[in-house]
Amino acid sequence: MSYWNEKMECMGAEEMRALQGERLRHIVRYTYERVAFYRQRMDEAGVSPDDIQTIDDIVKLPFMQKKDLRDYYPTGMFAAPMDEIVRFHASSGTTGKPIVAAYTTSDLDDWSEGVARCLTAYGVTKDDVAQVSYGYGLFTGGLGAHDGATKVGCSVLPTSSGNTAKQIMLMKDLGATVLCCTPSYALYLAESIEQDKDIDVARDIKLRVGVFGAEPWTEGMRKALEDKLHIRAFDIYGLTEVSGPGVGGECECQNGTHIWEDLFYPEIIDPVTLQRVPDRQEGELVFTTLSKEGMPVIRYRTRDLTHLTRGRCSCGRTAVRMAKIMGRSDDMLIIRGVNVFPSQVEAVIMSMPEFTGQYFITLDRVNNIDTFDVDVELKLEYHSDSIKNINEIKSRLNAALVSVLGIKPSIHIVEPGSIERSMGKAKHVLDKRKM
Ligand code: ADP
Ligand code: ZN
Repeated sequence: MSYWNEKMECMGAEEMRALQGERLRHIVRYTYERVAFYRQRMDEAGVSPDDIQTIDDIVKLPFMQKKDLRDYYPTGMFAAPMDEIVRFHASSGTTGKPIVAAYTTSDLDDWSEGVARCLTAYGVTKDDVAQVSYGYGLFTGGLGAHDGATKVGCSVLPTSSGNTAKQIMLMKDLGATVLCCTPSYALYLAESIEQDKDIDVARDIKLRVGVFGAEPWTEGMRKALEDKLHIRAFDIYGLTEVSGPGVGGECECQNGTHIWEDLFYPEIIDPVTLQRVPDRQEGELVFTTLSKEGMPVIRYRTRDLTHLTRGRCSCGRTAVRMAKIMGRSDDMLIIRGVNVFPSQVEAVIMSMPEFTGQYFITLDRVNNIDTFDVDVELKLEYHSDSIKNINEIKSRLNAALVSVLGIKPSIHIVEPGSIERSMGKAKHVLDKRKM
C-alpha cells in the first residue's frame, strides 16, 4: 500500500480532531483580523475568536455561501496581501457569475499535496505519463492536476482540453498511462478512439488510470469508461472556493472519496434547518479550509449533496469518506412537481447497452404544464433494426425512466454524434422555463 502522506491520511481520529481544532483556532483568528466579512459575520453572531477552542466549536460559526464571495468580488475576501498572492483562479461559472480565488505559495503547495495524495491512492507514481486534458486557465482543473502530477514526479503531458485528434496522437505516441479530464470528455475521447480505424486500444493506448471529476458521473459511466479505455477510473473531487480538484479522491477500494480533512474540514448539514446531520445521512456538504492563507473559507456551503462515513477504510486510510456526489441542490430539476437529478437519467441510460451514453434534457412549459424531453443516442448498429425493435428499445427506456423518476419523459431517439460533445463540464439540460 502506498500513501503520499501516511501520517495525515492514516491519522487516528482523536489526533486528527486535535490537529483540526488547533488549525481552526488559528484560521478563525486569522480571518477575523484580516477580512471585514468574517469580523462582521462573527460579531453579528455574537461569537469571538476566543470562543473557538476545539473543532466541535465550529458549529458556533456562521455559514457562508457563493453569494458572499460574489458580493465581495474581486478582492474583498482575500486574507493575504497582494504581494503574497501568486495565483488567481475563477470558478467556471456553471451556475452564474464566476467567483475569484487567490492562492499564496503555501496554498498552492497544499493544493498539489491534495492532488498528489489522490494520485498516489490511484496507484500513480513517478513512472507514469500523465495526460492532463482538463482545461488550463482560470478553471482549476488543468493547473490543479498539472501541479499535483508534477509533485508526484509524473511526466506531465499538458494537452488541456480540445483538439481531440492531436490529444489522441500524443496519448498514443508518448504512451500516456494516466488520463485526467472530465468524465464527459473522457467519453468523447473514448468514442473518437473507437472510431479511428488505425487505433486499437489494447495495442496502441497505454492508459491504465483515469482521474475523473469536476462534474457528477455515475457508476454506469465508470464502467463504460473502464471498458472502452481499458483503465481503472477514479473519482477526484474539488471546488474552486476551497482550492480546486484534489480536496478528496477515491482509493483502490472505490467505496467513497477520502477527504483530506487535515486541510479541508467537511460537515454535512440539513440545507433547511442548517443543523448538522449524523454520519451516513445525506445533506449539504460544507467546507472550512484549515490552512489556506490567500482566501480561506469558513463553513462554506457547497450545495453539493452527499453523506460522510468515518472509520478506517480497507486501504488503511482514516480520512473521512464522502459518497459520490450525484448533483448539487441547484442541479435539481423540479418537473411537474417531482424532483429529478440529471444523474438519475444518466444512470438509466448508461445501464442500457443500446445507447452511447450521451443524452440531453429539454424542459419547457406548454399550457401551464411542464414538458420533459430527453434526447438519447441509439448506437449505429441498432439504427438498421426494424421500427418495431427500435420502438421496443424506446419503450424499455421509457419504463426504466418512469420507474426511477416517477414521471414520464418524451424520449427522442437520435443518431450517434448528434448531441453536442463537451470538452469540459458537460451541459445536459436546457431549461426553457427559466428563459
Ligand atoms: P463551478 O461551481 O462554476 O462549476 P468549479 O469548477 O469550482 O466551479 O466546480 C466545483 C463543483 O463541481 C463542485 O462543487 C461539484 O458540484 C462539482 N464537482 C467537482 N468534482 C466533482 C466530482 N468528482 N463529482 C461530482 N461533482 C463534482
Ligand atoms: Zn480507502
